[in-house]
Amino acid sequence: MNRDRLNEIYSGSHLRIDLNAYQHNIGRLRQLAGADRSFLAVVKANAYGHGAIHCARAAVEAGVDYLAVARIDEAIQLRRADITAPILVLGAPNTSQISIALQMNVELSVGTRSALDSIVAAGSRIGCSAKLHLKLETGLHRYGADPDLALALAQEMKHSEWVDFRGVYTHFSSADEVERSPTRSQIDIMNTFTRELKSESILPPLVHLANSAGLITGELGESTMVRAGIATYGLDPSDEVKLPEGFQPVMSLHSVISRRFQLNAGDAVSYNRTYVAANAEEVGTVPIGYADGLPRSLQGRGRVLVGGELHQILGRICMDQITIRVPDTAREGDQVIVFGNGLSGELTAEEVAYTAGTNNYETVTRMSARLPRIYYKNDEAVSWSVPLLGEAGSF
Ligand SMILES: *Cc1c(COP(=O)(O)O)cnc(C)c1O
Repeated sequence: MNRDRLNEIYSGSHLRIDLNAYQHNIGRLRQLAGADRSFLAVVKANAYGHGAIHCARAAVEAGVDYLAVARIDEAIQLRRADITAPILVLGAPNTSQISIALQMNVELSVGTRSALDSIVAAGSRIGCSAKLHLKLETGLHRYGADPDLALALAQEMKHSEWVDFRGVYTHFSSADEVERSPTRSQIDIMNTFTRELKSESILPPLVHLANSAGLITGELGESTMVRAGIATYGLDPSDEVKLPEGFQPVMSLHSVISRRFQLNAGDAVSYNRTYVAANAEEVGTVPIGYADGLPRSLQGRGRVLVGGELHQILGRICMDQITIRVPDTAREGDQVIVFGNGLSGELTAEEVAYTAGTNNYETVTRMSARLPRIYYKNDEAVSWSVPLLGEAGSF
Protein backbone atom coordinates (compact mmCIF):
# COMPACT_ATOMS: atom_id res chain seq x y z
CA MET A 1 0.00 0.00 0.00
CA ASN A 2 2.67 2.47 1.06
CA ARG A 3 4.99 1.27 -1.70
CA ASP A 4 2.20 2.01 -4.16
CA ARG A 5 2.04 5.51 -2.75
CA LEU A 6 5.80 5.90 -3.17
CA ASN A 7 5.55 4.84 -6.81
CA GLU A 8 2.66 7.23 -7.39
CA ILE A 9 4.72 10.09 -6.04
CA TYR A 10 7.86 9.10 -7.94
CA SER A 11 5.99 9.09 -11.24
CA GLY A 12 4.97 12.74 -11.00
CA SER A 13 6.48 16.04 -9.89
CA HIS A 14 7.68 15.92 -6.29
CA LEU A 15 10.23 17.16 -3.79
CA ARG A 16 12.80 14.98 -2.08
CA ILE A 17 13.90 16.13 1.35
CA ASP A 18 17.07 14.65 2.81
CA LEU A 19 16.59 14.73 6.58
CA ASN A 20 20.09 13.39 7.20
CA ALA A 21 21.51 16.35 5.31
CA TYR A 22 19.31 18.67 7.38
CA GLN A 23 20.46 17.15 10.67
CA HIS A 24 24.07 17.14 9.49
CA ASN A 25 23.84 20.86 8.65
CA ILE A 26 22.31 21.59 12.05
CA GLY A 27 25.19 19.72 13.68
CA ARG A 28 27.75 21.84 11.82
CA LEU A 29 25.94 25.04 12.76
CA ARG A 30 25.69 24.04 16.41
CA GLN A 31 29.47 23.62 16.39
CA LEU A 32 29.86 27.10 14.94
CA ALA A 33 27.53 28.51 17.61
CA GLY A 34 29.56 26.89 20.38
CA ALA A 35 28.45 24.51 23.10
CA ASP A 36 27.36 27.23 25.51
CA ARG A 37 24.89 28.84 23.09
CA SER A 38 21.37 27.54 22.56
CA PHE A 39 20.32 26.82 19.00
CA LEU A 40 17.05 27.88 17.41
CA ALA A 41 16.05 26.32 14.07
CA VAL A 42 13.82 28.53 11.93
CA VAL A 43 11.04 26.46 10.34
CA LYS A 44 8.74 29.29 9.22
CA ALA A 45 7.01 29.19 5.84
CA ASN A 46 6.66 25.42 5.89
CA ALA A 47 10.36 25.11 6.77
CA TYR A 48 11.32 27.23 3.75
CA GLY A 49 9.18 24.92 1.60
CA HIS A 50 10.77 21.72 2.93
CA GLY A 51 7.84 20.69 5.15
CA ALA A 52 7.46 22.16 8.64
CA ILE A 53 6.35 19.12 10.60
CA HIS A 54 8.99 16.73 9.27
CA CYS A 55 11.77 19.29 9.58
CA ALA A 56 10.71 20.37 13.07
CA ARG A 57 10.76 16.74 14.25
CA ALA A 58 14.16 16.16 12.66
CA ALA A 59 15.52 19.38 14.18
CA VAL A 60 14.37 18.38 17.66
CA GLU A 61 15.92 14.94 17.13
CA ALA A 62 19.16 16.71 16.15
CA GLY A 63 19.13 18.48 19.50
CA VAL A 64 17.93 22.01 18.77
CA ASP A 65 16.66 23.93 21.78
CA TYR A 66 14.09 26.09 20.06
CA LEU A 67 12.00 26.32 16.90
CA ALA A 68 10.74 29.53 15.32
CA VAL A 69 7.94 30.36 12.93
CA ALA A 70 6.50 33.60 11.60
CA ARG A 71 2.81 33.21 12.42
CA ILE A 72 0.76 31.72 15.23
CA ASP A 73 -0.98 29.37 12.76
CA GLU A 74 2.38 27.83 11.94
CA ALA A 75 3.02 27.23 15.64
CA ILE A 76 -0.43 25.64 16.02
CA GLN A 77 0.37 23.33 13.12
CA LEU A 78 3.48 22.09 14.96
CA ARG A 79 1.72 21.71 18.31
CA ARG A 80 -1.05 19.69 16.65
CA ALA A 81 1.67 17.40 15.32
CA ASP A 82 2.71 16.81 18.96
CA ILE A 83 5.89 18.83 18.76
CA THR A 84 6.48 19.97 22.32
CA ALA A 85 9.75 21.91 21.91
CA PRO A 86 9.75 25.65 22.68
CA ILE A 87 8.38 27.58 19.68
CA LEU A 88 8.90 31.30 19.18
CA VAL A 89 6.68 33.31 16.85
CA LEU A 90 8.85 35.95 15.17
CA GLY A 91 7.20 39.21 14.23
CA ALA A 92 3.98 40.77 15.47
CA PRO A 93 1.43 38.30 16.85
CA ASN A 94 -2.04 38.30 15.31
CA THR A 95 -3.97 39.90 18.18
CA SER A 96 -7.00 37.61 17.78
CA GLN A 97 -4.87 34.50 18.16
CA ILE A 98 -2.97 35.42 21.30
CA SER A 99 -5.13 33.33 23.66
CA ILE A 100 -4.73 30.16 21.65
CA ALA A 101 -0.99 30.78 21.39
CA LEU A 102 -0.71 31.05 25.17
CA GLN A 103 -2.85 27.96 25.72
CA MET A 104 -0.54 26.03 23.39
CA ASN A 105 2.56 27.24 25.21
CA VAL A 106 3.75 29.19 22.16
CA GLU A 107 6.22 32.01 22.86
CA LEU A 108 5.57 35.44 21.37
CA SER A 109 7.60 38.48 20.31
CA VAL A 110 6.93 41.90 21.76
CA GLY A 111 7.99 44.79 19.54
CA THR A 112 5.30 47.33 20.39
CA ARG A 113 3.45 48.62 23.43
CA SER A 114 0.14 47.42 21.96
CA ALA A 115 1.45 43.87 21.52
CA LEU A 116 2.44 43.68 25.20
CA ASP A 117 -0.89 45.18 26.30
CA SER A 118 -2.86 42.67 24.18
CA ILE A 119 -0.83 39.75 25.47
CA VAL A 120 -1.18 40.75 29.13
CA ALA A 121 -4.91 41.33 28.64
CA ALA A 122 -5.36 37.90 27.02
CA GLY A 123 -3.19 36.18 29.63
CA SER A 124 -5.02 37.65 32.61
CA ARG A 125 -8.39 36.90 31.00
CA ILE A 126 -7.66 33.20 30.52
CA GLY A 127 -5.38 32.84 33.53
CA CYS A 128 -2.35 31.82 31.52
CA SER A 129 1.04 33.51 31.60
CA ALA A 130 2.97 34.31 28.42
CA LYS A 131 6.56 33.41 27.57
CA LEU A 132 7.84 36.48 25.78
CA HIS A 133 10.84 37.72 23.84
CA LEU A 134 11.40 41.44 23.51
CA LYS A 135 12.37 42.49 19.98
CA LEU A 136 14.73 45.44 19.84
CA GLU A 137 14.88 47.81 16.87
CA THR A 138 18.54 48.18 15.87
CA GLY A 139 18.36 49.08 12.18
CA LEU A 140 16.10 46.75 10.22
CA HIS A 141 13.04 48.93 10.82
CA ARG A 142 10.49 46.18 10.59
CA TYR A 143 9.12 44.88 13.89
CA GLY A 144 10.85 45.96 17.09
CA ALA A 145 10.87 48.59 19.81
CA ASP A 146 13.32 51.50 19.92
CA PRO A 147 15.64 51.29 22.94
CA ASP A 148 13.73 53.77 25.16
CA LEU A 149 10.40 52.05 24.66
CA ALA A 150 12.07 48.64 24.86
CA LEU A 151 13.50 49.49 28.28
CA ALA A 152 10.08 50.46 29.58
CA LEU A 153 8.57 47.27 28.12
CA ALA A 154 11.35 45.17 29.65
CA GLN A 155 10.64 46.61 33.10
CA GLU A 156 6.96 45.81 32.73
CA MET A 157 7.64 42.34 31.39
CA LYS A 158 9.98 41.56 34.26
CA HIS A 159 7.38 42.56 36.84
CA SER A 160 4.09 41.45 35.30
CA GLU A 161 2.59 38.33 36.87
CA TRP A 162 1.32 37.34 33.40
CA VAL A 163 4.71 37.43 31.72
CA ASP A 164 7.62 35.01 31.82
CA PHE A 165 10.34 37.23 30.31
CA ARG A 166 12.36 34.69 28.31
CA GLY A 167 14.49 36.64 25.90
CA VAL A 168 15.56 39.76 24.12
CA TYR A 169 16.58 39.76 20.48
CA THR A 170 17.21 41.72 17.32
CA HIS A 171 17.59 40.85 13.64
CA PHE A 172 20.42 41.82 11.27
CA SER A 173 19.66 43.72 8.09
CA SER A 174 22.92 43.08 6.23
CA ALA A 175 24.86 40.20 7.77
CA ASP A 176 24.85 38.52 4.34
CA GLU A 177 27.08 41.26 2.90
CA VAL A 178 30.87 41.45 2.94
CA GLU A 179 30.62 44.93 4.46
CA ARG A 180 30.30 44.37 8.20
CA SER A 181 29.74 47.88 9.53
CA PRO A 182 25.89 47.81 9.53
CA THR A 183 25.98 44.53 11.48
CA ARG A 184 28.56 45.88 13.93
CA SER A 185 26.49 48.95 14.67
CA GLN A 186 23.40 46.79 15.26
CA ILE A 187 25.47 44.71 17.69
CA ASP A 188 26.62 47.89 19.47
CA ILE A 189 23.04 49.05 19.98
CA MET A 190 22.08 45.62 21.29
CA ASN A 191 25.08 45.49 23.65
CA THR A 192 24.25 48.89 25.11
CA PHE A 193 20.69 47.76 25.65
CA THR A 194 21.46 44.40 27.25
CA ARG A 195 24.04 46.00 29.57
CA GLU A 196 21.35 48.41 30.71
CA LEU A 197 18.99 45.50 31.41
CA LYS A 198 21.74 43.73 33.27
CA SER A 199 22.49 46.76 35.43
CA GLU A 200 18.80 46.81 36.38
CA SER A 201 18.87 43.04 36.98
CA ILE A 202 16.14 42.46 34.43
CA LEU A 203 18.16 40.72 31.69
CA PRO A 204 16.30 37.56 30.56
CA PRO A 205 18.21 34.30 30.00
CA LEU A 206 18.08 34.32 26.19
CA VAL A 207 19.82 37.00 24.14
CA HIS A 208 19.84 36.32 20.41
CA LEU A 209 20.97 38.23 17.33
CA ALA A 210 22.62 36.08 14.66
CA ASN A 211 20.81 34.60 11.68
CA SER A 212 22.61 32.10 9.40
CA ALA A 213 24.82 34.79 7.87
CA GLY A 214 25.76 36.21 11.27
CA LEU A 215 26.57 32.74 12.54
CA ILE A 216 28.75 31.89 9.53
CA THR A 217 30.67 35.16 9.73
CA GLY A 218 31.01 34.97 13.52
CA GLU A 219 28.95 38.10 14.20
CA LEU A 220 27.27 36.71 17.29
CA GLY A 221 27.38 39.72 19.61
CA GLU A 222 26.96 39.01 23.33
CA SER A 223 24.42 36.28 22.79
CA THR A 224 23.25 33.08 24.44
CA MET A 225 21.34 31.75 21.39
CA VAL A 226 21.48 31.86 17.58
CA ARG A 227 18.63 31.61 15.04
CA ALA A 228 19.45 29.77 11.82
CA GLY A 229 17.20 29.16 8.84
CA ILE A 230 18.67 29.07 5.36
CA ALA A 231 21.97 27.40 6.35
CA THR A 232 20.16 24.50 8.03
CA TYR A 233 18.71 23.71 4.61
CA GLY A 234 22.19 23.62 3.11
CA LEU A 235 21.77 26.87 1.20
CA ASP A 236 24.04 29.94 1.10
CA PRO A 237 22.80 33.09 2.87
CA SER A 238 23.93 35.08 -0.19
CA ASP A 239 26.44 35.26 -2.99
CA GLU A 240 28.75 37.23 -0.69
CA VAL A 241 28.34 35.04 2.39
CA LYS A 242 28.47 31.40 1.38
CA LEU A 243 28.37 28.29 3.49
CA PRO A 244 31.70 26.80 4.49
CA GLU A 245 32.67 23.38 3.07
CA GLY A 246 30.70 20.35 4.11
CA PHE A 247 27.10 21.55 4.06
CA GLN A 248 24.55 19.64 2.00
CA PRO A 249 21.45 20.98 0.22
CA VAL A 250 18.38 19.30 1.69
CA MET A 251 15.80 19.75 -1.09
CA SER A 252 15.69 18.50 -4.67
CA LEU A 253 12.89 18.97 -7.19
CA HIS A 254 12.02 16.07 -9.48
CA SER A 255 9.62 15.43 -12.31
CA VAL A 256 9.17 13.15 -15.30
CA ILE A 257 8.70 13.32 -19.04
CA SER A 258 4.97 12.94 -19.62
CA ARG A 259 4.99 13.19 -23.43
CA ARG A 260 7.85 12.64 -25.81
CA PHE A 261 7.55 14.02 -29.34
CA GLN A 262 9.25 15.76 -32.22
CA LEU A 263 9.07 19.38 -33.32
CA ASN A 264 9.36 20.14 -37.00
CA ALA A 265 11.19 23.19 -38.28
CA GLY A 266 8.90 26.18 -37.77
CA ASP A 267 6.83 24.63 -34.94
CA ALA A 268 6.27 27.03 -32.04
CA VAL A 269 6.19 25.98 -28.40
CA SER A 270 3.89 27.17 -25.60
CA TYR A 271 1.90 30.39 -25.15
CA ASN A 272 2.65 33.31 -27.44
CA ARG A 273 4.94 31.23 -29.63
CA THR A 274 8.10 32.71 -28.08
CA TYR A 275 10.17 29.68 -29.13
CA VAL A 276 10.15 28.45 -32.71
CA ALA A 277 12.17 25.39 -33.73
CA ALA A 278 14.76 26.23 -36.39
CA ASN A 279 15.16 22.55 -37.26
CA ALA A 280 13.42 19.34 -36.39
CA GLU A 281 14.20 18.43 -32.78
CA GLU A 282 13.30 16.02 -29.99
CA VAL A 283 11.33 17.48 -27.10
CA GLY A 284 9.29 16.41 -24.08
CA THR A 285 6.54 17.76 -21.88
CA VAL A 286 7.15 17.90 -18.11
CA PRO A 287 4.25 18.34 -15.66
CA ILE A 288 5.69 21.19 -13.62
CA GLY A 289 4.94 24.91 -13.80
CA TYR A 290 4.81 28.15 -11.90
CA ALA A 291 1.90 26.89 -9.80
CA ASP A 292 4.36 24.37 -8.37
CA GLY A 293 6.86 27.14 -7.69
CA LEU A 294 9.02 26.96 -10.81
CA PRO A 295 9.84 30.63 -11.48
CA ARG A 296 8.17 31.84 -14.66
CA SER A 297 11.09 34.22 -15.15
CA LEU A 298 13.32 31.25 -16.04
CA GLN A 299 11.90 31.51 -19.54
CA GLY A 300 14.61 31.40 -22.18
CA ARG A 301 17.31 30.58 -19.61
CA GLY A 302 16.08 27.61 -17.58
CA ARG A 303 17.65 24.16 -17.89
CA VAL A 304 16.79 20.83 -16.31
CA LEU A 305 18.65 17.52 -16.05
CA VAL A 306 17.54 14.66 -18.29
CA GLY A 307 19.66 11.57 -18.95
CA GLY A 308 22.63 13.03 -17.09
CA GLU A 309 22.74 16.29 -19.06
CA LEU A 310 21.20 19.73 -18.83
CA HIS A 311 18.54 20.52 -21.40
CA GLN A 312 16.82 23.78 -22.15
CA ILE A 313 13.28 24.76 -21.19
CA LEU A 314 11.63 25.95 -24.42
CA GLY A 315 9.20 28.85 -24.60
CA ARG A 316 6.95 30.11 -21.86
CA ILE A 317 6.73 28.35 -18.51
CA CYS A 318 3.04 27.56 -18.03
CA MET A 319 1.08 27.21 -14.81
CA ASP A 320 1.35 23.42 -14.85
CA GLN A 321 3.71 22.33 -17.61
CA ILE A 322 6.91 23.04 -19.49
CA THR A 323 8.31 21.76 -22.74
CA ILE A 324 12.01 20.87 -22.80
CA ARG A 325 14.58 19.72 -25.31
CA VAL A 326 15.47 16.07 -24.69
CA PRO A 327 18.24 13.69 -25.77
CA ASP A 328 17.43 11.12 -28.48
CA THR A 329 17.51 8.37 -25.87
CA ALA A 330 14.83 9.97 -23.68
CA ARG A 331 11.54 8.14 -23.17
CA GLU A 332 8.21 8.92 -21.57
CA GLY A 333 8.45 8.32 -17.81
CA ASP A 334 12.14 9.29 -17.65
CA GLN A 335 13.26 11.28 -14.64
CA VAL A 336 13.82 15.03 -14.81
CA ILE A 337 15.70 16.90 -12.07
CA VAL A 338 14.97 20.62 -11.85
CA PHE A 339 17.38 21.31 -8.99
CA GLY A 340 19.23 19.42 -6.29
CA ASN A 341 22.64 19.14 -4.66
CA GLY A 342 24.37 19.34 -8.03
CA LEU A 343 26.19 16.03 -7.64
CA SER A 344 24.54 14.40 -10.66
CA GLY A 345 25.00 17.47 -12.85
CA GLU A 346 21.68 19.12 -12.05
CA LEU A 347 21.48 22.81 -11.18
CA THR A 348 21.40 23.85 -7.53
CA ALA A 349 18.61 25.96 -6.02
CA GLU A 350 21.09 28.87 -6.00
CA GLU A 351 21.75 28.52 -9.72
CA VAL A 352 18.06 28.32 -10.53
CA ALA A 353 17.38 31.32 -8.29
CA TYR A 354 20.08 33.56 -9.75
CA THR A 355 19.05 32.58 -13.29
CA ALA A 356 15.48 33.53 -12.43
CA GLY A 357 16.60 36.84 -10.94
CA THR A 358 15.74 36.01 -7.33
CA ASN A 359 17.41 34.29 -4.35
CA ASN A 360 17.46 30.74 -3.06
CA TYR A 361 15.22 31.66 -0.09
CA GLU A 362 12.37 32.58 -2.41
CA THR A 363 12.98 29.69 -4.78
CA VAL A 364 12.68 26.92 -2.18
CA THR A 365 10.02 28.67 -0.09
CA ARG A 366 7.69 28.96 -3.06
CA MET A 367 7.60 25.22 -3.68
CA SER A 368 3.86 24.82 -3.47
CA ALA A 369 1.43 22.59 -1.61
CA ARG A 370 0.71 20.81 -4.89
CA LEU A 371 4.07 19.06 -4.75
CA PRO A 372 4.14 15.82 -2.75
CA ARG A 373 7.20 15.47 -0.53
CA ILE A 374 9.24 12.36 0.15
CA TYR A 375 11.51 12.38 3.20
CA TYR A 376 14.75 10.40 3.26
CA LYS A 377 17.07 9.10 5.93
CA ASN A 378 20.23 7.17 5.05
CA ASP A 379 19.21 7.36 1.38
CA GLU A 380 15.98 5.54 2.12
CA ALA A 381 12.48 6.97 1.77
CA VAL A 382 11.13 7.01 5.32
CA SER A 383 7.98 9.10 5.02
CA TRP A 384 5.86 11.11 2.63
CA SER A 385 3.21 13.78 2.50
CA VAL A 386 0.70 14.89 -0.08
CA PRO A 387 -0.31 18.29 1.33
CA LEU A 388 -3.11 18.85 -1.15
CA LEU A 389 -4.92 15.74 0.07
CA GLY A 390 -3.97 16.26 3.73
CA GLU A 391 -2.34 12.83 3.65
CA ALA A 392 0.97 11.71 5.10
CA GLY A 393 2.55 8.53 6.28
CA SER A 394 5.73 6.59 6.80
CA PHE A 395 7.20 3.61 5.02
C1 LIG B 1 13.77 34.31 8.96
C2 LIG B 1 14.45 34.81 10.19
C3 LIG B 1 15.67 34.22 10.64
C4 LIG B 1 16.41 33.18 9.84
O1 LIG B 1 17.20 33.82 8.85
P1 LIG B 1 18.18 32.99 7.89
O2 LIG B 1 18.83 34.02 7.07
O3 LIG B 1 17.31 32.08 7.08
O4 LIG B 1 19.09 32.24 8.78
C5 LIG B 1 16.17 34.62 11.87
N1 LIG B 1 15.55 35.60 12.59
C6 LIG B 1 14.42 36.20 12.17
C7 LIG B 1 13.81 37.27 13.02
C8 LIG B 1 13.84 35.84 10.96
O5 LIG B 1 12.73 36.46 10.54
